[in-house]
Amino acid sequence: MALDRRRIAGNVASLVRIPSVNPLHAGPRAREPGERALAEHLAARFAELGAEEVTLDPVIDDRPNVYARFAGRSDALVVIDVHTDTVTVEHMTDDPFDGRIEDGRVWGRGALDTKATLGVVLTLLEEWQARGVRPRPNLLVIGTVGEEGGGLLGAMRFRQWATERRVRVDQIVSAEPTQLAPIHGHKGGMGMRVSTLGVAAHSAQPHLGKNAIFAMAKILEALEAEHRRLEAGVATTPVGVGSLSVGLIEGGTGANVVPARCTINVGRRLVPGEDPDVEYDRLVELIERACPLPVDIESLAPPQLGSMGSPAFYVPADTPLISTLARAAGTEPAVAPFGTNALRYGGFVPEIAVFGPGCIDDAHQATEWVEIDDLMRTADALSAWLDPA
Ligand SMILES: [Zn+2]
Repeated sequence: MALDRRRIAGNVASLVRIPSVNPLHAGPRAREPGERALAEHLAARFAELGAEEVTLDPVIDDRPNVYARFAGRSDALVVIDVHTDTVTVEHMTDDPFDGRIEDGRVWGRGALDTKATLGVVLTLLEEWQARGVRPRPNLLVIGTVGEEGGGLLGAMRFRQWATERRVRVDQIVSAEPTQLAPIHGHKGGMGMRVSTLGVAAHSAQPHLGKNAIFAMAKILEALEAEHRRLEAGVATTPVGVGSLSVGLIEGGTGANVVPARCTINVGRRLVPGEDPDVEYDRLVELIERACPLPVDIESLAPPQLGSMGSPAFYVPADTPLISTLARAAGTEPAVAPFGTNALRYGGFVPEIAVFGPGCIDDAHQATEWVEIDDLMRTADALSAWLDPA
């Protein structure tokens, strides 16, 4: 059953017109940053579209998740998770929020990443309501805050909310631009801030000080060696091998001062089978062994996480959910180079897929768009999975 192209494009466009820039990305062009306005809009729309229950769930700083439950025809419960935040609009070369429909595309920040799937879902719900049909499984549509920065707090909160209520979820689809290939794995991550603690002195009297930058150089050498060791490893899954990177360094106060402190941020990509806590401890040991001075090491994981990082997300490529989506979209299961909300659902939901229209290479750019053809294909694929009747 073909949906109306104009309606599906219009639904995505109307979501683009509600700015929801992640506050960590906000600048002067972001208008009202945060996800609240979009969450409230969605709550009202879901209620109109016949949701049994709609919940605005505060996560952090007046930024709520939204959950809407639609009755199905079986006992199963599936979740469609769409993050409601977008990345920055400061570098955009057109109006980020006009949601114009032009050249077979919907334009604007979030059109692709990831209001596209939200617009498709709204269109399907409208269609089902008009026809008086229901999906086979019960459907929980969730809009989660904070995917584009801040530790996936919205997904983490949804998991806690569902666990407290003993909501048993059978399958979850997390929306991201995957060119309609169901993603069944991607790396996890862990980060730390490491400071070397030296003693300041006049650089003419270096023997009176302890140089924190020299000490950090030893750590950097050890970390690079560790990265090379990881890179040379053998991948046990299509997700690949682990890696390590130092993304930030600062230290020192002046050219003629022996530096008392130097700080780096270390990022470690984790592959299936690696435990964030174990790998964290291993890195701490490596750093302490390499460094001639005392070090101060701090985890960058959000405290709510209860561990030092996120294990990789990985499910077999032949689970029913992955197979159904691949068949329906005419694509092959794949793994992704980027991380998603799926990192928060391991051990909570047995079947997980990351799935959506458009290509991640086009996300976060100076212009953003989604093809209406791809929205139509997404609607077909989600319909095949949800089986309305
Ligand atoms: Zn996204």
